[in-house]
Amino acid sequence: RRFVFAFNEGDKDHKDLLGGKGAGLAEMTNLGLPVPPGFTIATGACRRYLTDGNMPPELADEIDAHLARLEAERGKRLGSAVDPMLVSVRSGAKFSMPGMMETILDIGLNDDSVDGLAAAAGSERFAWDSYRRLIQMFGSTVLGIDAARFGAALDAAERSSGAAGDVDLDAAALRGVVAVYKAIIRDATGREFPQDPREQLDMAIRAVFESWNTERARVYRRQERIPHNLGTAVNVMAMVYGNLGPDSGTGVAFTRDPATGAPGVYGDYLSEAQGEDVVAGIRTPVPLQDLERLDPGSLAELRRIMALLEDHYRDLCDVEFTIERGKLWMLQTRIGKRTAAAAFRMAIQFLDDGLIDVKEALGRVTGDQLAQLMFPQFDPQFEAKPIATGVPASPGAAVGVAVFDSASAADTEGKTILVRRETSPDDLPGIIAADGVLTSRGGKTSHAAVVARGMGKTCVVGADGLEIDAEQRQFTAPGGVVVREGDTISIDGTSGCVYAGAIDVVPSPVVEYFEGRLDAEQRRRDPVVQAVSRMMIYADERRRLGVHANADTPDDAKRARRFRADGIGLCRTEHMFLGERRHHVEELILAESAEEQDKVLAELLPMQLGDFVGILAEMDGLPVTIRLIDPPLHEFLPDLTELSVKVALAEARGEVDLGDVRLLRAVRRLHEQNPMLGLRGVRLGLVVPGLVAMQVHAIAEAAAARIRAGDDPRPEIMVPLIGGTEEFELMREEIERVLHDVSEASGIDIRAKIGTMIELPRAALTAGRIAEHAEFFSFGTNDLTQTTWGFSRDDVEGSFFPAYLEKGIFAASPFESLDEEGVGRLVAIAVEEGRAAREDLLIGVCGEHGGDPSSVRFFDRIGLDYVSCSPFRVPIARLEAGRAAV
Ligand code: ADP
Ligand code: MG
Ligand code: MG
Repeated sequence: RRFVFAFNEGDKDHKDLLGGKGAGLAEMTNLGLPVPPGFTIATGACRRYLTDGNMPPELADEIDAHLARLEAERGKRLGSAVDPMLVSVRSGAKFSMPGMMETILDIGLNDDSVDGLAAAAGSERFAWDSYRRLIQMFGSTVLGIDAARFGAALDAAERSSGAAGDVDLDAAALRGVVAVYKAIIRDATGREFPQDPREQLDMAIRAVFESWNTERARVYRRQERIPHNLGTAVNVMAMVYGNLGPDSGTGVAFTRDPATGAPGVYGDYLSEAQGEDVVAGIRTPVPLQDLERLDPGSLAELRRIMALLEDHYRDLCDVEFTIERGKLWMLQTRIGKRTAAAAFRMAIQFLDDGLIDVKEALGRVTGDQLAQLMFPQFDPQFEAKPIATGVPASPGAAVGVAVFDSASAADTEGKTILVRRETSPDDLPGIIAADGVLTSRGGKTSHAAVVARGMGKTCVVGADGLEIDAEQRQFTAPGGVVVREGDTISIDGTSGCVYAGAIDVVPSPVVEYFEGRLDAEQRRRDPVVQAVSRMMIYADERRRLGVHANADTPDDAKRARRFRADGIGLCRTEHMFLGERRHHVEELILAESAEEQDKVLAELLPMQLGDFVGILAEMDGLPVTIRLIDPPLHEFLPDLTELSVKVALAEARGEVDLGDVRLLRAVRRLHEQNPMLGLRGVRLGLVVPGLVAMQVHAIAEAAAARIRAGDDPRPEIMVPLIGGTEEFELMREEIERVLHDVSEASGIDIRAKIGTMIELPRAALTAGRIAEHAEFFSFGTNDLTQTTWGFSRDDVEGSFFPAYLEKGIFAASPFESLDEEGVGRLVAIAVEEGRAAREDLLIGVCGEHGGDPSSVRFFDRIGLDYVSCSPFRVPIARLEAGRAAV
């Protein structure tokens, strides 16, 4: 077991061990690309350090040995007074966490080696610029001194020497800056800036280890669902210098446009700069194409390398590079983050180029990405003049009130747009809370852009016409428009436009496509629609899992059909009792004799019938699973307190309304402390005579009507909330009796499958017995989650869930993503025992989880026949089911 590996000892498949950055550096080294030499300290060392609180004892020797090899290879010594070698110490976890952890450049400089570096490079300015960078980074990251203190000192130096920026400071001025920086360190820590290069190196490595656990890194991991126990690797790498004069510089590039997926190398370049200057948005970089003018040789070389990397990884890559006096060096590569639109377009491009097959193409897109493409966009017809434009960094349309810091983004009710000059990792909570991000500095590779893109959040960066005054909480746009905190603005992450006020939002072209509202020409013209439509075909060809829709009205049923649902998995009947029809139910509850009750039911019957006929007609030939009435009765009745007050007031005035008094008595009688666990579902059907018979009657008549019309209706009748087989058997008898009666009366043989929801733990645990009587199961995972965890789904969001998410008790709400370990186990037991009792048992799931991508994969894995979800999630479930099958 060892901890340290030279770059030429690893490869891209060892991300667990070497982290993403280390694996990429190793891969590029093996490909013979110009990578400065170095070595990687594996993630295991970080884990050991974080548990023991100490460096693993054997680590020091390993580092010594690798350092010696590095020095031999370079022919220079770390921190030597003559032509010194400098190194960077770079974090790099398995999953990219942009800007979240520390990196320290120029390790090895001290009061002696700075002269050695100046002499070797022939530039005093460069050597002192590097030294001040080292002290600044070391001071803020390793020693934890507020970065603003160094920033203020640098600003002061620029002012006093009349420099417009750091590039204009000469050697003497930079020497002065170094002296001030050292004084800051002395003042803050009570000791000198460490002069021993090896001590600098060790301290930097420790700091990188510790940066794994900073608050911002933890927040980021929670957001991105990255486990907290992986640790980071540390890469020690010989420095190359982008700050060595006008023929040097540094940049970031993508092999394709990560925002749209359009082909063509794409990136930002900043001359006379080192490392983080590009990403930090300190100065706004120039587009990569400008290198054509500055250094065509290096650009050609970079293009060649990027083509090679893309072919090699068979995917979009991003790279960091530095040009040192006309020589190109590669400092990082990885598979690049991308927007949802780019993901679909590129998967199809790579497929058409023969680099990947259909299976891999399906693996390159996700249901979540498709969901993003289904968000509305700004109305293209809307004729508003933007008050500013910036770089479109992450698409979407965001409308919200301007806020100028993280705290306001989190505290402001409603939608917000976080407006910053540039963002740093400290702004992460604000970016998470806001609906959009707008900055005045930085390019497509700036921190704000990278983070927002990763989260699928609308973002415009580098709107450099904006004068942002965070202190006054306002910004001024080029035309003089002033936007204050609380004013509404709109930003378009696809065009980069910024508007004052709220812009109208329209449906996405992808939704228009699913709705069947685009003609062939419109489809052809939109590359994203093209890519999505092809991907849907591939997914449908491959998926095993059926995808049904939850639909309660003929209109919903129509949409379900347009969205290619294989049936309706959940038709709720209760809304059919609400609205104007509510008073019928009220009467049903108040009815004092069987005759009265029958009268009300007879009034309800034709209404139910009309609904069912419409839905069955839309779904001709496909299954329609109709759930018998489910919600607690009190939902149909007035609120107890309100009614009590009304009656009391009336009594006080001496005007007693007998109807209200009677109603109040009924409401009192039916009042339950815990209605979700009360009189609802099958219990209603068993307790209120005639209700289920009326519903089944309506279903049977509707089916008969459709058969007469020449259709093939496929109703299925579903009993909700059973706890065991006895309840189901009683219901089944009643349902069969009504089906039989209507068949006799109409002379039409009406058939309907009769099955049940499984949404209580007891039902799941006795599924074998239930399946002897039920023809199908449909898991109601919302109630099953609620009853398995004992969480009230209507109350948790505002109560303890935020704390649970914060503490990492779960990564996502179990109502959004199925809790596979607990609830999923009940589902699996019921599937297994149900199928053992009845081989052809049909099994599906209805409820939110049916449209959740990760849950869909789970349901596919345990062998369900179908998932059912809202019509808009049907395409997402189809795609995810296709992905699960390959
Ligand atoms: P991050 O993970 O935040 O991108 P990096 O470790 O990639 O941090 O380093 C930050 C910046 O410093 C990058 O722009 C990188 O290219 C640059 N850099 C890192 N090591 C060196 C080096 N040895 N020579 C020159 N620049 C470097
Ligand atoms: Mg980097
Ligand atoms: Mg339920």
